[in-house]
Amino acid sequence: MAQLVYSSKINKIRSFALILIFAGIGIMYLGIMAKKIEWLMLLLFLIGVLCIVFSTVVYLWIGTLSLRAVPVVCPSCQQPTKMLGRVDACMHCKQPLTLDKALEGKEFDEKYNSKRQQKAEKMNEK
Ligand SMILES: [Zn+2]
Repeated sequence: MAQLVYSSKINKIRSFALILIFAGIGIMYLGIMAKKIEWLMLLLFLIGVLCIVFSTVVYLWIGTLSLRAVPVVCPSCQQPTKMLGRVDACMHCKQPLTLDKALEGKEFDEKYNSKRQQKAEKMNEK
């Protein structure tokens, strides 16, 4: 069976924010190259600034998420990591982790974090 690689949610969001910053800088660089066309330069600069502002917002959001995340010690690599939601992956070794005893031993699936799935499980218990 193919090894599925999951990255932890915080890491995922963090790389997204990083990509946004680079995209913003790249777009602003395009703006400099397009300085002969004033409106295009201004437009590209504006988009670039928006990207960077948005990524700052995402970084702030990660900050608040991290506060809510549950710190655990990964059973696989013994390093401290943070979990978001019912299932998440270790930040260091990508080991799938769960806080829910009912999900222990089950295959890691992002769907366990969705409200719909949790409702469906409750219905089954009845
Ligand atoms: Zn680990």
